Amino acid sequence: MSQLQPIKGTHDLMFEDVRRHRFVEETAFEIARRYGYGEIATPVFEFTEVFKRTLGDTSDIVTKEMFTFETKGGDNITLRPEGTAGVARAFISEGLAQQTPLKFFYRGPMFRYERPQKGRQRQFHQFGAELLGVATPQADVEIIALADHILKALRLTGAVSLELNSLGDVESRTAYRDVLVNYFKGHEDKLSADSRERLGRNPLRILDSKDPGDKEVNVNAPQFTEHLNTASRDFFMGVQDGLADLNIAFKVVPALVRGLDYYGHTAFEFTTDALGAQGTVLAGGRYDGLIKQMGGPQTPGIGFAAGIERLAMLLPEIAADKRPIAVIPIGDGEAKIAQEITAKLRHAGFTVDIGYSGNMGKRMARANKIKAVVAVILGSDEVREGVATVRNLDTGDQAKVPQADLARHLAGFK
Ligand code: ATP
Ligand code: MG
Repeated sequence: MSQLQPIKGTHDLMFEDVRRHRFVEETAFEIARRYGYGEIATPVFEFTEVFKRTLGDTSDIVTKEMFTFETKGGDNITLRPEGTAGVARAFISEGLAQQTPLKFFYRGPMFRYERPQKGRQRQFHQFGAELLGVATPQADVEIIALADHILKALRLTGAVSLELNSLGDVESRTAYRDVLVNYFKGHEDKLSADSRERLGRNPLRILDSKDPGDKEVNVNAPQFTEHLNTASRDFFMGVQDGLADLNIAFKVVPALVRGLDYYGHTAFEFTTDALGAQGTVLAGGRYDGLIKQMGGPQTPGIGFAAGIERLAMLLPEIAADKRPIAVIPIGDGEAKIAQEITAKLRHAGFTVDIGYSGNMGKRMARANKIKAVVAVILGSDEVREGVATVRNLDTGDQAKVPQADLARHLAGFK
């Protein structure tokens, strides 16, 4: 394979793709700011241990998907597969425990060694939010409301739906795990090899399996919602009531799980039918045990992460970039004055492209290609008279305008 190809599962983002990408990111951040979330940018790599401790030794990410390597200095590091681990690490290493509640928003590339397909890449992008230090259902409601608001601002209402579940507190989870293991033991012969292994280590994750045999067994599996203790049930009702108060529609889906010990209570996903198998666009949950597990002080947390590529694919048509003004010197003699005028207009706030070379026809063709809205044409006559010919490229109307008046004349195109 040629070394000059992009690496499998990675993409160059440009033109329309990058505009969609930015639109998703900027809309998300704009809304997150309204909810009081400030941006955090953690490094794209961390010690491998950071992810192992956050994600657990049995997660798909840790067992199969990490880009891990040893540095020249002998450190074992990993390109971040997700954002929560870095935020939790920063919370501990920056000593932020006294500053809770803390609200962080992040965005950027993530790396997972998976089989590339539609909506699944090896370098992809996420934005996400984390709310640290609030243990009550209001935090869950706020974080889900934020996710919902962002998706609405992206005009994806109707295209996505919210699925919700509760994983209860530690006591509920321990009790449920026993019930579940019991049930699966009775059907062990029908489970996939993967799931038979999960049975000992992480039975909850079987519920999430995509294997057809596992799925059949899962249909009749005991449901978490029926094994929640009173405190967990109250918590879950608090979240549901809060969402109902905000008119956020949701469906309780008992099979929705995060199979890690430090995830509890709320788990949620926004999904779509429009992307085939890769239907989850945003996923989140409560992780009250995580920061302690990583070696920090007991700190509750809840957050979500969204796949920017998947959202970008779902977006309806987005507004095109602002159309530029094209400054066109007719010949090399007018190049200098054209440069000066271009610089002045740019400093005055206009978006301006300048024709560098070629005959007039070539320069006009470029102006059309970049969808310029007007052309500011400078020939030897114009230079002599101290004017420019301003042509509206949509209507063909044109007028001579004194060079000193250009900014005022073009004000409508800023
Ligand atoms: P999936 O079940 O699709 O593998 P996941 O549970 O691994 O998703 P999370 O770790 O919850 O995903 O990440 C949150 C979101 O990031 C996903 O819902 C998805 O939109 C996006 N995402 C995850 N992995 C990829 C990938 N390899 N390529 C593109 N987007 C991804
Ligand atoms: Mg995955």
